[in-house]
This record gives sequence, C-alpha cells and structure tokens, in this order.
Amino acid sequence: MSVSHANTPLKPSCIDLHIHSTASDGSLSPIEIIETAEKAGLRAISITDHDTVEGSAEALRHQHSSGVEILTGIEVSVGFDSGTMHILGYLIRLDDPSLRQALKDVQKGRAGRNLQIIKKLQDLGADISHDEVLKVSGGGQTGRPHIAQVLVKKGVVQTIDEAFSKFLKKGRPAYTERYRLLPVEAIQTILQAGGVPVLAHPFTLNSKTEGGLDRIVAELKQAGLKGVEVYYPGHGPDLTAQYERLADRHGLLVTGGTDFHGMVNPGIHIGIGVGDMRIPYRLVEKLKEAAV
Ligand SMILES: [Zn+2]
Ligand SMILES: [Zn+2]
Repeated sequence: MSVSHANTPLKPSCIDLHIHSTASDGSLSPIEIIETAEKAGLRAISITDHDTVEGSAEALRHQHSSGVEILTGIEVSVGFDSGTMHILGYLIRLDDPSLRQALKDVQKGRAGRNLQIIKKLQDLGADISHDEVLKVSGGGQTGRPHIAQVLVKKGVVQTIDEAFSKFLKKGRPAYTERYRLLPVEAIQTILQAGGVPVLAHPFTLNSKTEGGLDRIVAELKQAGLKGVEVYYPGHGPDLTAQYERLADRHGLLVTGGTDFHGMVNPGIHIGIGVGDMRIPYRLVEKLKEAAV
C-alpha cells in the first residue's frame, strides 16, 4: 500500500494515529489539531501524547462537533537500555484506574527529575531556577526541552541543540535518569485499560539486525503487544517494507502516523508527514477488532 503519491490530495479515507498536542510537547491544542485534521481531509486521528491522556480526553470532548473520528491514544516512554522504546496505546478507556495511577507515578518521576537536573545545572554554575523553567513550559508537562530553552534565554548556551549536547543528553553532566514503566508494564497497563498496545517507530530501538529486532518484538508480543507502527515519516521505503515483514512474521497489526508536533517540528504535516504518507482507514478497523 501506501505512500508515494506526493501530489495527490488526501483521500477522505486517510488517518493519522500519532499526533502530539500541547498536553505533551506539541504546539497545537487538541481542538486546533482536530481543525487541522479536518482541513487536511482526514477520516480518523489519535492524539498520542507522551505519558498523559489529557490531550486525548480533550479531543474526545470535541469529537461531536467535527467530522473527524477520534481514537483515544497515548505514547508511553518505557525503560530500554540500548535505545528509545515508546509504546503506543489505542482505544484505551481514559478513566481506567490502573492507567491513571501508572501515569501519575510517571508524572511524579518526571517532576522529580526536572528538579534534579536543575540542581545539577546550578552546581555547574548555570543561573537557572525551577520557576523560570515552569514559566517557559506554561505549567503543563515540563521537561528537558523547556530547561534547554531557559539555558538559551540566559545565554548559557547558544542553541537548544547545544544545551542537550553540552549538558542534558545521556552521558552529559546534568543528565538524570527518570522513573519509567518497563515495556511489559506499559503493555499490561494498556491492555487492562481495554486498549491495543503498539510498538512505536521501531528504528529508535537501535537494533542493528532484523534478527535482533525479531527477538525484541517476540518478547514484547509475549507480554501482550498487538501491533507495530510501520508507517512513519522517518522510515523510508526500505524500513517500511522491513517493518511490514516484521509485523507479518509475528502476526501483529500494522499502524501508522506522522508524530506531528506542530511548530515544534515544522517539516512534518498532519496526515502526510513530509508529504508522501497516505495511511488507510482500514487499519483503524483492524485496531477496533483487536481492542478488548
Ligand atoms: Zn515516540
Ligand atoms: Zn510521538
């Protein structure tokens, strides 16, 4: 299927199942995202904010006034040593108590981590306070990008990239680990909330071989994983084909989305990514069949 008709308009049967709102690190509110999706002619979307369902809940409240179908969603960052592992959860019950509790624990870990990073930066001589960081984030989900912005504003570094490469990324002096769910915990939590757990953008696992990826995916499937995010702007034709095979080998569903963040990542457009994605609605039908 897919994905290579750069100049044809979106069909009304297209979807985008990976979108971030202001509830995490996107620049558009859930309502603005629905409006943008409507203008783009999408049939269904899912707002999949990092470790929070607030964006998804807000979108659901406005579903009736739009022509776009809203699937509830989340993207959970989980502990994984050799790369970055994100687990998407679709069609979750947003008020599920164990989901709520798990996310509360993660948010608490995030807040504690910010304080530790700021303390380390202060110890390194940087003039930065927690209040300044909160001012930049607007009091919503707050993290390293906001700390980086303050460092730029204060002239400690010239750019956000420099803030990460000098201080904030793994291995640098202000880096701090934070509490994360284990992959199996995230998968179980999503299942318990009636949702469908899906491995996001597999390339970020940094697995060098198809065999290595196979082993990871087999383990995740044993824990309850039901799908793989195959269609993604960073994947390109070769990886897309590789991940289609991967999903097929393991009997997993296929999903896709753009990881749209609004102005935070201006090259990526809702529904079409860098311009060439066309993700068909039939994937949503399969997700619904798989939801508990
Ligand atoms: Zn992700
Ligand atoms: Zn994402």
